[in-house]
Amino acid sequence: MTVGFLHSAQQKGAAIFTHTRVQAIELDHGRVAAVVTHKGKMETRLVINAAGAFAAEIGAMVNLTIPIKPRRGQILVTEAVPPLLKCCLLSAKYIAAKFDPKIAGDGEAGFAVEQTASGNILIGSTREFVGFKKHNSYDGIHTIANNVLRVLPGIKNVRMIRAFAGLRPYTPEGLPILGKVEAIDGFIMAAGHEGDGITLAPITGEMIAELVSTGSAPLLCDDLRLERFI
Ligand SMILES: Cc1cc2nc3c(=O)[nH]c(=O)nc-3n(C[C@H](O)[C@H](O)[C@H](O)COP(=O)(O)OP(=O)(O)OC[C@H]3O[C@@H](n4cnc5c(N)ncnc54)[C@H](O)[C@@H]3O)c2cc1C
Repeated sequence: MTVGFLHSAQQKGAAIFTHTRVQAIELDHGRVAAVVTHKGKMETRLVINAAGAFAAEIGAMVNLTIPIKPRRGQILVTEAVPPLLKCCLLSAKYIAAKFDPKIAGDGEAGFAVEQTASGNILIGSTREFVGFKKHNSYDGIHTIANNVLRVLPGIKNVRMIRAFAGLRPYTPEGLPILGKVEAIDGFIMAAGHEGDGITLAPITGEMIAELVSTGSAPLLCDDLRLERFI
Protein backbone atom coordinates (compact mmCIF):
# COMPACT_ATOMS: atom_id res chain seq x y z
CA MET A 1 0.00 0.00 0.00
CA THR A 2 2.87 2.35 0.84
CA VAL A 3 4.39 1.69 -2.58
CA GLY A 4 0.99 2.40 -4.16
CA PHE A 5 0.81 5.79 -2.41
CA LEU A 6 4.41 6.48 -3.40
CA HIS A 7 3.79 5.82 -7.11
CA SER A 8 0.64 7.99 -7.09
CA ALA A 9 2.54 10.82 -5.42
CA GLN A 10 5.33 10.55 -8.01
CA GLN A 11 2.79 10.70 -10.84
CA LYS A 12 1.51 13.95 -9.31
CA GLY A 13 5.01 15.42 -9.26
CA ALA A 14 6.36 14.51 -5.82
CA ALA A 15 10.11 13.93 -5.57
CA ILE A 16 10.89 10.94 -3.33
CA PHE A 17 14.30 10.56 -1.64
CA THR A 18 14.63 7.04 -0.27
CA HIS A 19 17.44 6.03 2.12
CA THR A 20 17.92 9.69 3.01
CA ARG A 21 18.18 10.18 6.76
CA VAL A 22 17.08 13.48 8.26
CA GLN A 23 19.77 14.51 10.74
CA ALA A 24 18.77 18.06 11.66
CA ILE A 25 16.19 20.74 11.04
CA GLU A 26 17.34 24.34 10.84
CA LEU A 27 15.20 27.18 12.11
CA ASP A 28 15.31 30.87 11.33
CA HIS A 29 13.66 33.07 14.00
CA GLY A 30 11.39 30.20 15.12
CA ARG A 31 10.46 29.23 11.57
CA VAL A 32 11.49 26.11 9.64
CA ALA A 33 14.29 27.03 7.22
CA ALA A 34 15.98 23.80 6.10
CA VAL A 35 16.23 20.05 6.52
CA VAL A 36 19.71 18.57 6.78
CA THR A 37 20.07 14.98 5.57
CA HIS A 38 23.15 12.77 5.39
CA LYS A 39 23.12 13.48 1.65
CA GLY A 40 22.91 17.25 1.91
CA LYS A 41 20.74 20.19 2.91
CA MET A 42 17.33 21.15 1.47
CA GLU A 43 15.93 24.60 2.08
CA THR A 44 12.24 24.48 2.96
CA ARG A 45 9.63 26.46 4.90
CA LEU A 46 7.67 23.33 5.78
CA VAL A 47 8.31 20.03 7.57
CA ILE A 48 5.64 17.39 8.13
CA ASN A 49 6.71 15.02 10.87
CA ALA A 50 5.30 11.68 9.67
CA ALA A 51 8.14 9.60 11.10
CA GLY A 52 5.89 7.15 12.97
CA ALA A 53 7.65 5.60 15.96
CA PHE A 54 10.64 7.90 15.27
CA ALA A 55 8.56 11.10 15.43
CA ALA A 56 9.98 12.06 18.84
CA GLU A 57 13.52 11.96 17.38
CA ILE A 58 12.47 14.38 14.62
CA GLY A 59 10.73 16.63 17.19
CA ALA A 60 13.88 16.75 19.33
CA MET A 61 15.68 18.32 16.36
CA VAL A 62 13.61 21.47 16.97
CA ASN A 63 13.53 21.10 20.77
CA LEU A 64 10.00 19.70 20.86
CA THR A 65 9.02 16.97 23.29
CA ILE A 66 6.73 14.63 21.41
CA PRO A 67 5.23 11.83 23.53
CA ILE A 68 5.43 9.10 20.90
CA LYS A 69 7.31 5.89 21.61
CA PRO A 70 7.69 2.57 19.78
CA ARG A 71 5.37 -0.26 20.75
CA ARG A 72 6.40 -3.57 19.24
CA GLY A 73 3.87 -5.90 17.66
CA GLN A 74 4.75 -9.44 16.60
CA ILE A 75 2.82 -11.45 14.01
CA LEU A 76 2.83 -15.12 13.05
CA VAL A 77 2.23 -16.34 9.51
CA THR A 78 0.99 -19.86 8.78
CA GLU A 79 1.26 -22.01 5.69
CA ALA A 80 -1.54 -21.56 3.13
CA VAL A 81 -4.58 -23.69 4.03
CA PRO A 82 -8.13 -24.01 2.64
CA PRO A 83 -10.59 -21.34 3.89
CA LEU A 84 -10.86 -21.53 7.68
CA LEU A 85 -12.01 -18.01 8.51
CA LYS A 86 -14.51 -15.80 6.71
CA CYS A 87 -13.61 -12.55 8.44
CA CYS A 88 -11.00 -10.79 10.50
CA LEU A 89 -11.41 -11.82 14.13
CA LEU A 90 -10.30 -9.41 16.86
CA SER A 91 -10.65 -9.78 20.61
CA ALA A 92 -11.97 -6.79 22.56
CA LYS A 93 -8.75 -6.87 24.57
CA TYR A 94 -6.73 -6.33 21.39
CA ILE A 95 -8.60 -3.09 20.71
CA ALA A 96 -8.67 -1.90 24.33
CA ALA A 97 -4.95 -2.53 24.89
CA LYS A 98 -4.26 0.11 22.26
CA PHE A 99 -5.52 2.80 24.62
CA ASP A 100 -4.38 1.48 27.98
CA PRO A 101 -0.96 -0.18 28.44
CA LYS A 102 -2.16 -1.80 31.70
CA ILE A 103 -4.55 -3.96 29.67
CA ALA A 104 -1.67 -5.34 27.62
CA GLY A 105 0.13 -6.33 30.83
CA ASP A 106 3.38 -8.09 30.00
CA GLY A 107 2.92 -7.63 26.29
CA GLU A 108 -0.05 -10.00 26.27
CA ALA A 109 -2.64 -8.14 24.22
CA GLY A 110 -5.49 -10.34 23.03
CA PHE A 111 -5.53 -11.55 19.46
CA ALA A 112 -6.21 -10.56 15.86
CA VAL A 113 -6.48 -13.27 13.24
CA GLU A 114 -7.18 -13.07 9.54
CA GLN A 115 -6.80 -15.35 6.53
CA THR A 116 -5.33 -13.83 3.40
CA ALA A 117 -6.57 -14.46 -0.15
CA SER A 118 -3.67 -16.88 -0.64
CA GLY A 119 -4.81 -18.95 2.35
CA ASN A 120 -2.01 -17.99 4.77
CA ILE A 121 -3.29 -17.00 8.20
CA LEU A 122 -1.89 -13.94 9.97
CA ILE A 123 -2.05 -14.18 13.74
CA GLY A 124 -1.25 -11.24 15.98
CA SER A 125 -0.14 -9.71 18.12
CA THR A 126 1.77 -8.35 21.09
CA ARG A 127 1.93 -4.78 22.40
CA GLU A 128 5.36 -4.34 24.00
CA PHE A 129 7.56 -1.44 25.04
CA VAL A 130 11.04 -2.72 24.17
CA GLY A 131 12.52 0.37 22.59
CA PHE A 132 13.32 0.12 18.89
CA LYS A 133 13.96 -3.65 18.94
CA LYS A 134 12.19 -5.19 15.97
CA HIS A 135 13.07 -8.85 16.37
CA ASN A 136 10.64 -11.62 17.33
CA SER A 137 10.92 -13.23 20.74
CA TYR A 138 10.12 -16.79 21.77
CA ASP A 139 7.82 -15.42 24.51
CA GLY A 140 5.95 -13.25 22.01
CA ILE A 141 5.41 -16.12 19.58
CA HIS A 142 4.30 -18.42 22.39
CA THR A 143 1.86 -15.85 23.81
CA ILE A 144 0.25 -15.18 20.43
CA ALA A 145 -0.13 -18.90 19.65
CA ASN A 146 -1.67 -19.64 23.05
CA ASN A 147 -4.13 -16.74 22.78
CA VAL A 148 -5.45 -17.81 19.42
CA LEU A 149 -5.65 -21.49 20.33
CA ARG A 150 -8.19 -20.62 23.03
CA VAL A 151 -10.69 -19.49 20.39
CA LEU A 152 -9.57 -21.41 17.31
CA PRO A 153 -8.37 -24.81 18.55
CA GLY A 154 -8.50 -26.12 14.97
CA ILE A 155 -5.51 -23.96 14.09
CA LYS A 156 -3.29 -26.23 16.21
CA ASN A 157 -2.38 -28.45 13.27
CA VAL A 158 -1.61 -25.60 10.87
CA ARG A 159 2.13 -25.01 10.47
CA MET A 160 3.64 -21.62 11.21
CA ILE A 161 6.05 -20.65 8.43
CA ARG A 162 7.43 -17.35 9.72
CA ALA A 163 7.05 -14.47 12.12
CA PHE A 164 7.77 -10.76 11.91
CA ALA A 165 7.50 -7.67 14.06
CA GLY A 166 6.96 -3.95 13.62
CA LEU A 167 6.89 -0.80 15.73
CA ARG A 168 3.62 1.02 16.32
CA PRO A 169 3.87 4.74 17.12
CA TYR A 170 2.27 4.86 20.59
CA THR A 171 0.88 7.99 22.26
CA PRO A 172 -0.25 8.09 25.92
CA GLU A 173 -3.98 8.03 25.09
CA GLY A 174 -3.84 6.03 21.89
CA LEU A 175 -4.76 8.89 19.54
CA PRO A 176 -2.52 10.43 16.86
CA ILE A 177 -0.91 13.88 16.99
CA LEU A 178 -2.03 15.91 14.00
CA GLY A 179 -1.80 19.49 12.80
CA LYS A 180 0.33 22.62 13.10
CA VAL A 181 2.66 23.00 16.07
CA GLU A 182 2.16 26.41 17.66
CA ALA A 183 5.78 26.93 18.80
CA ILE A 184 7.41 26.38 15.39
CA ASP A 185 6.18 28.05 12.26
CA GLY A 186 6.13 25.54 9.39
CA PHE A 187 6.23 22.38 11.54
CA ILE A 188 3.27 20.01 11.16
CA MET A 189 2.61 16.73 12.98
CA ALA A 190 1.14 13.63 11.32
CA ALA A 191 2.22 10.75 13.57
CA GLY A 192 1.25 8.60 16.55
CA HIS A 193 -1.43 6.38 14.96
CA GLU A 194 -0.45 3.35 17.09
CA GLY A 195 -2.18 0.29 15.64
CA ASP A 196 -4.36 2.16 13.15
CA GLY A 197 -1.88 3.93 10.92
CA ILE A 198 -2.68 1.90 7.81
CA THR A 199 -6.42 2.50 8.08
CA LEU A 200 -5.99 6.16 9.00
CA ALA A 201 -3.27 6.98 6.46
CA PRO A 202 -5.63 8.13 3.65
CA ILE A 203 -7.73 10.49 5.81
CA THR A 204 -4.60 11.78 7.57
CA GLY A 205 -2.99 12.49 4.21
CA GLU A 206 -6.08 14.27 2.90
CA MET A 207 -6.44 16.48 5.97
CA ILE A 208 -2.75 17.39 6.17
CA ALA A 209 -2.67 18.14 2.41
CA GLU A 210 -5.67 20.44 2.87
CA LEU A 211 -3.98 22.12 5.85
CA VAL A 212 -0.81 22.73 3.83
CA SER A 213 -2.52 23.94 0.67
CA THR A 214 -5.30 26.10 2.19
CA GLY A 215 -4.00 26.92 5.67
CA SER A 216 -6.87 25.14 7.45
CA ALA A 217 -8.57 21.76 7.50
CA PRO A 218 -12.08 21.87 9.02
CA LEU A 219 -12.14 18.12 9.69
CA LEU A 220 -8.85 18.25 11.59
CA CYS A 221 -9.84 18.25 15.22
CA ASP A 222 -7.97 20.77 17.43
CA ASP A 223 -8.02 18.20 20.25
CA LEU A 224 -5.50 16.11 18.30
CA ARG A 225 -2.78 18.77 18.24
CA LEU A 226 0.51 18.39 20.10
CA GLU A 227 -0.49 21.21 22.47
CA ARG A 228 -2.84 18.82 24.31
CA PHE A 229 0.23 17.36 26.02
CA ILE A 230 1.74 20.70 27.08
C1 LIG B 1 1.96 -6.04 14.31
C2 LIG B 1 1.30 -4.81 13.77
C3 LIG B 1 0.01 -4.88 13.26
C4 LIG B 1 -0.61 -3.75 12.76
N1 LIG B 1 -1.87 -3.87 12.23
C5 LIG B 1 -2.49 -2.78 11.74
C6 LIG B 1 -3.80 -2.88 11.17
O1 LIG B 1 -4.38 -3.95 11.10
N2 LIG B 1 -4.38 -1.74 10.71
C7 LIG B 1 -3.77 -0.53 10.79
O2 LIG B 1 -4.35 0.46 10.37
N3 LIG B 1 -2.52 -0.41 11.32
C8 LIG B 1 -1.89 -1.48 11.81
N4 LIG B 1 -0.64 -1.38 12.37
C9 LIG B 1 -0.10 -0.04 12.64
C10 LIG B 1 0.57 0.58 11.45
O3 LIG B 1 1.54 -0.29 10.91
C11 LIG B 1 1.22 1.90 11.90
O4 LIG B 1 0.29 2.71 12.59
C12 LIG B 1 1.72 2.66 10.68
O5 LIG B 1 2.69 1.91 9.99
C13 LIG B 1 2.30 4.01 11.06
O6 LIG B 1 2.59 4.65 9.85
P1 LIG B 1 3.50 5.93 9.79
O7 LIG B 1 3.59 6.29 8.35
O8 LIG B 1 3.04 6.94 10.78
O9 LIG B 1 4.93 5.42 10.32
P2 LIG B 1 5.93 4.40 9.62
O10 LIG B 1 5.22 3.46 8.72
O11 LIG B 1 6.78 3.84 10.71
O12 LIG B 1 6.80 5.36 8.69
C14 LIG B 1 7.69 6.29 9.26
C15 LIG B 1 8.79 6.50 8.24
O13 LIG B 1 9.66 7.54 8.71
C16 LIG B 1 10.98 7.17 8.38
N5 LIG B 1 11.93 7.88 9.25
C17 LIG B 1 12.05 7.81 10.59
N6 LIG B 1 13.06 8.60 11.02
C18 LIG B 1 13.58 9.19 9.91
C19 LIG B 1 14.65 10.12 9.69
N7 LIG B 1 15.40 10.60 10.69
N8 LIG B 1 14.90 10.50 8.40
C20 LIG B 1 14.15 10.02 7.36
N9 LIG B 1 13.12 9.15 7.51
C21 LIG B 1 12.86 8.74 8.77
C22 LIG B 1 11.02 5.66 8.60
O14 LIG B 1 12.10 5.08 7.91
C23 LIG B 1 9.67 5.26 8.04
O15 LIG B 1 9.76 4.98 6.67
C24 LIG B 1 0.04 -2.50 12.83
C25 LIG B 1 1.35 -2.42 13.34
C26 LIG B 1 1.97 -3.57 13.81
C27 LIG B 1 3.37 -3.46 14.35
